[in-house]
Amino acid sequence: MGEFDLIKRYFVRDPALGVSSDAVALGIGDDCAVLNPTPGMQWLVSCDMLVEGRHFLSTVAPERLAHKALAVNLSDLAACGATPRAFTLALALPRADAVWLAGFAKGLFALADAHGIALVGGDTTQGPLNICVTVMGEVPRGQALLRSGARVGDDIYVSGTVGDARLALEVFRGTAVLAGEAFEQARRAMECPQPRVGLGQALRGLATSAIDVSDGLIGDLGHILQRSSVGACLAVDALPRSAVLASQSLALQRECGLAGGDDYELIFTAPVVAREAVRQASLNCATPITRIGHIEAEPGLRLADAQGQALVAEFSSFDHFKTS
Ligand code: ADP
Ligand code: MG
Repeated sequence: MGEFDLIKRYFVRDPALGVSSDAVALGIGDDCAVLNPTPGMQWLVSCDMLVEGRHFLSTVAPERLAHKALAVNLSDLAACGATPRAFTLALALPRADAVWLAGFAKGLFALADAHGIALVGGDTTQGPLNICVTVMGEVPRGQALLRSGARVGDDIYVSGTVGDARLALEVFRGTAVLAGEAFEQARRAMECPQPRVGLGQALRGLATSAIDVSDGLIGDLGHILQRSSVGACLAVDALPRSAVLASQSLALQRECGLAGGDDYELIFTAPVVAREAVRQASLNCATPITRIGHIEAEPGLRLADAQGQALVAEFSSFDHFKTS
């Protein structure tokens, strides 16, 4: 199977099957895709790469890998409150394996269709397995949710639950034990994250800042604090956890919840006066949220346990280039 056969067979869709999007004037097949911005909207673009051994294990099913490659990108759009419009796929493959490619395309288009976006182009090359998706989305002019808008006194929220993806990783590493359905649930969180696209859009005009949890809650919240020139107090034991994580030791719960990463939940801030509107937004998009702390003027992040006692965090977020 040649490069162009491969693209045609797995990535160019029957027009009857694919989403028809008014954002796309011309999709795959020419030197560029041609896209139509909606009048009055701004385009948001983000790109995330997944590298075997770094971001995923070789044991992951191709459907899930494709899902995750697109999901982590959609999560960035969600964090900015954007409506997804289109995406591209750059793929390096060791070999053209038909079964693998069919599974990959299935997982990719299942999530794309769920968000009504078309694959409009990409690049395909032979090489160590590497997947790079670029997503494009839109927000009404000036309404993108940024990291820089948190204000002193704002509430801090997180969506869903945090820590399961890290728990699954610890099981793969052999440092934690889970069996049966509990393991499957944690593994799903790691391999099949659900980007909070609906919540992101619902928070436009309400949240003062937002970010998605990719590297760990402490580190990602830290980006908001830094960009907003504020500090925060976090109620560590208020972090929403799945029943599976809640059955682990408190130390492991805290480590997974605070430093885990790969959760793809949204952390956001909003003024206290907006509490009811935020609650309503969460209900409208059927995405649970939990209030986990508040923004303070004093720089830095302070952690408190259930009794309000200060805690010292002994772990940090994931950093690809950290040497110590
Ligand atoms: P060029 O050489 O002009 O960059 P290519 O030969 O690489 O174009 O690709 C041909 C067409 O197929 C282009 O429209 C490109 O965007 C698209 N394409 C290539 N790889 C992929 C892929 N993995 N997924 C989707 N579209 C792809
Ligand atoms: Mg090319």
